[in-house]
Amino acid sequence: MIVMLEPDCADSVVEGVLQHAQRIPGITARKHVVKGVTHTVTEIYLLGPTQSIELSEFEELPGVRRVVRVSVKFRRIGRHAGQTETLGFQYNDVTFDENSLHIFAGLCAVDSPAHVDATMRALHANGLLTTRMGAYKPRTSPYDFQGLGAKCLPWVFELAGKHGIKVISMEVTDPRHIDEIDQAVRSSGHATGVMLQIGTRNAQNFELLKQVGQQAQFPVLFKRGMGITLEESLNACEYIASEGNPKILFCLRGVKTHLGDPHRNLVDFAHVPVVRRLTRLLVCVDPSHAVGRADLSPDGLLDIFHVVGQGLIAGASAVLIDFHPDPANALCDGPQALRLEQLPHFLRYARRVRDAYREARAEAMGQRESRAAV
Ligand code: PEP
Ligand code: MN
Repeated sequence: MIVMLEPDCADSVVEGVLQHAQRIPGITARKHVVKGVTHTVTEIYLLGPTQSIELSEFEELPGVRRVVRVSVKFRRIGRHAGQTETLGFQYNDVTFDENSLHIFAGLCAVDSPAHVDATMRALHANGLLTTRMGAYKPRTSPYDFQGLGAKCLPWVFELAGKHGIKVISMEVTDPRHIDEIDQAVRSSGHATGVMLQIGTRNAQNFELLKQVGQQAQFPVLFKRGMGITLEESLNACEYIASEGNPKILFCLRGVKTHLGDPHRNLVDFAHVPVVRRLTRLLVCVDPSHAVGRADLSPDGLLDIFHVVGQGLIAGASAVLIDFHPDPANALCDGPQALRLEQLPHFLRYARRVRDAYREARAEAMGQRESRAAV
């Protein structure tokens, strides 16, 4: 059962509800605070035998907006009756919400300081605050480049600070990596911030998910599992939130089947609105690992552009995309990386589609309101 309180309510209101809940035998109450851009919404989760509790018992308490019985899955991330807010968040002065568009453009795998410097310089010149930089690479073959690991973190973070990059999406494959990143961020004097990326291969690594959920410092970019259902991926993502960290971007990146050929994966961006309906999470799309190749279609746009368009027009508010100063010599996933010279065109394209989505949304919401008014 979820007791939703009025936005920005006083601590005494929260205390009142918690105390009331504590008097009910067998019930545990957990406070969950969603800090939005303009409001903070507090919800109290009641766990245990809630069937015998009347909704009115909590509805009548001061400061309670609504009480919802949650028998369904996705308790924390789910969009339950009456929940209109999206789980946006702020991190390192960057706002992630319904109205923002963030492009995490960067290297699949960090290889050299010169490439990181050139990439971040280009991002900064194009007004971006976010990037992707893989230090710990989960590779299919043990003989492939495994990433530079912790030793590259000091110069990656220093260069990010130099170029004003605020958030780096960086995959972690082991809880140790969280500590290494934490230490390196501190040693850099908080030159930048990190969003912990859970890769598709670790989508059901429940111990790792619990660890990223138990820390509050870094937000998380969770990628759907490539060979499991959407529901299983959402359940896995719920692990992160249920451990206490609701700062999550849910990322679609295609699913594994040869039916997607010649693309690397079958693009699943039709699931953007599904994820947004079932959950309150912001959705990111990764066209690079979905498509896997930088092929051009006859209209002059890359397949990668087209699927970004599909994701953005469907309501995604973030894109994770591979760029490289020299794709032919990249140590990982070069064939799908765009060249830095393509960045301005790409951004114009992405912003144009996002604007089209916003217009479509405004029209639809307006219509919904006027229908409700009739
Ligand atoms: C990546 O983004 O670097 C990556 C390995 O992607 P995925 O987990 O989606 O395969
Ligand atoms: Mn990759």
